[in-house]
Amino acid sequence: MINLNYFNFCAMGIMLVLVITAMVRRMLRGRRNRYFWNLLLVVTCSALFEILVVILDNTYEASVTQKYIVHCCYLIMHSLSVPVYVLYLACLTDSLYRLRDNLAVQLVLAAPFAGLMICIVLSPVYHIIFYFDSLNRYTKGPCYFLLYAAAAFYIALAVIHVLRQRRLFAKGQMFVVLAILPVVAAALWVQVTYPMIRVEMFVWALGLLFLLLMVQKPEERTDPVTGFGKQGAYVTDIGQALGNEKPVHIILINILNYKALRDILGYQSMQSLLGIVSEKIMKLCREQLPKADPYYLEGGRFCLVTGKENFHRTDGAARALNGMLKDVIYLQDMDINLQVNLCILHCPEDLCDFQSIYAFSNEFEEYEKTGKVLYAEEILKDGRYIIKDLEGIIDNAVHNQGLTVYYQPIYSVEKGKYVSAEALIRLNDEEYGHISPELFIPVAEKNGVIHQIGIYVLEEVCKFIASREFQELGMEYIEVNLSVAQCMRNNLASEIIAILHKYQVRPDQINLEITETAIADSQNIMSENIRLLKEEGLSFSLDDFGTGYSNIRRVATLPLNIVKLDKTFTDLETNPKLDIVVRNTVRMVKDMDMKIVVEGIETENLVRYFSDLKCEYIQGYYFSKPLSREEFVCFVGQANKG
Ligand code: C2E
Ligand code: MG
Ligand code: MG
Repeated sequence: MINLNYFNFCAMGIMLVLVITAMVRRMLRGRRNRYFWNLLLVVTCSALFEILVVILDNTYEASVTQKYIVHCCYLIMHSLSVPVYVLYLACLTDSLYRLRDNLAVQLVLAAPFAGLMICIVLSPVYHIIFYFDSLNRYTKGPCYFLLYAAAAFYIALAVIHVLRQRRLFAKGQMFVVLAILPVVAAALWVQVTYPMIRVEMFVWALGLLFLLLMVQKPEERTDPVTGFGKQGAYVTDIGQALGNEKPVHIILINILNYKALRDILGYQSMQSLLGIVSEKIMKLCREQLPKADPYYLEGGRFCLVTGKENFHRTDGAARALNGMLKDVIYLQDMDINLQVNLCILHCPEDLCDFQSIYAFSNEFEEYEKTGKVLYAEEILKDGRYIIKDLEGIIDNAVHNQGLTVYYQPIYSVEKGKYVSAEALIRLNDEEYGHISPELFIPVAEKNGVIHQIGIYVLEEVCKFIASREFQELGMEYIEVNLSVAQCMRNNLASEIIAILHKYQVRPDQINLEITETAIADSQNIMSENIRLLKEEGLSFSLDDFGTGYSNIRRVATLPLNIVKLDKTFTDLETNPKLDIVVRNTVRMVKDMDMKIVVEGIETENLVRYFSDLKCEYIQGYYFSKPLSREEFVCFVGQANKG
């Protein structure tokens, strides 16, 4: 008698493993996990009731009532498995929200299941689906086929849904979610044809194991410390919401003093702190923002994503969170104060493309520190920050002459005239006007357009250098910025050399500016590019010195000609101690045999101060803002003449 249950016992074993894995991997939060747990629950209950069914059917002492109850429970759970799987699939592509306001479709989709449930529950009286005959034997009723009809309906629904939404599934996942259906159908057929081989629940359990490994992927999607979705999950989920045109509210939570706390507390305590913070966020979510999806985006950045059902609660919840996170946290005999920035982002109203949302989520800490809940709408209106569809704007500018190169003169203290200039890219968009390179260069770096921009700038600069008007100005060289991504390109050197040859520009007429970050990050390939270009005769400047990693050892080992002191060094009036830093930095750079360009000089006092320190070159608004090529020729022509 027990033989019949062998497969069900195996199914229960697998389900136990799945439940333990899901708990240990902290797959307890977020929509996807919720729907996966529903599946786990339904399949486990089905297997359990099937075991009971088999046991009771073979127990002579069991009463008919007992049998009816257990059979009904089994059939209900069993019939639930495919519809719950369909819901899980809809949740995978975040398409459920479409049904929320559509009662008619909801009714049509639920009708077969509801009808079946009524038939099952009424079976003990009307013998519709099953009954026990006079000899107490389980017998199929006249409408037993409805069980299969309903399952077939939902399997068809699942297939249609997956095929229609195939672009929203990650690579390979579509195959996994579809493959489960025919296998389950085949198992059902086996079980019906050979009632002694009860494999259906076993196959479901294997299917769920497969889903856990291939789709749920807790190690990839779930942060083990907070139990929140990881950055990758955020990327996928927001992409799906946008793909489905689903409106969402995103609450971004940023712990501003994260790095400082991590340095003080160390790794273990920081993990504990993150655990406490995530618990606090979750507690408030349960009370005020049910069903919001929580994510942890690393670096002390959390976010909550919620659909329409919570829109009326987002503001209140964000305010409550803002207040709650400022409460002192008691950890290992320490009182810890978090500095938190919180911002509400409405999608698609505020930002509607993924790149901008992602950039905003990552960089929003730089925006404002008011202590109040911020609204992305306000920040974006400011114009200094992210702009909608920046990628599209850059693309448009690259293809439709929206880019120009400006030149900012660089003054030689020794020669008392302008000897060089820095080429600075300008992007002008029809709708948004001038967009700062500080905004669009990072985006262009991420999507690779920076290479096109870099080539454009270098070509423009070379055309200028090759022109008669440039030769008449008597300038020595032009400085061209190289971004981090450009420095990582392995054929950078040959590309640059080819452009120089094309316009017959001498290598000593170009000086390439690289940043400290680039130096620290790209190492080998960077050094190789510098070596090749250096061999060709180009020179290098270190841009923004003093802002980045300040990896002085590497600065000393790279063949740099010029160090550009960042504008932050010019803040001498508000910070008198900076004088000591500046004097020593200048001395150190000079001792290393490099020249200095001071950037961002706006006042005469500063010009005098840095001239007295024997800094070779000065660049800044005091002399001139970046100018168009024509303005530059005019300005330098006049100034150098006088
Ligand atoms: P950077 O290379 O450090 O350029 C200097 C920035 O300081 C420029 O900003 C310039 O307009 C600004 N500046 C110059 N003098 C003063 C001053 O006296 N006061 C103040 N407050 N600012 C001053 P811009 O043009 O907005 O460029 C920002 C950054 O964008 C640049 O910083 C550079 O990192 C990047 N960038 C600009 N053009 C290019 C380019 O063609 N390629 C690459 N890869 N990056 C570029
Ligand atoms: Mg520069
Ligand atoms: Mg600079």
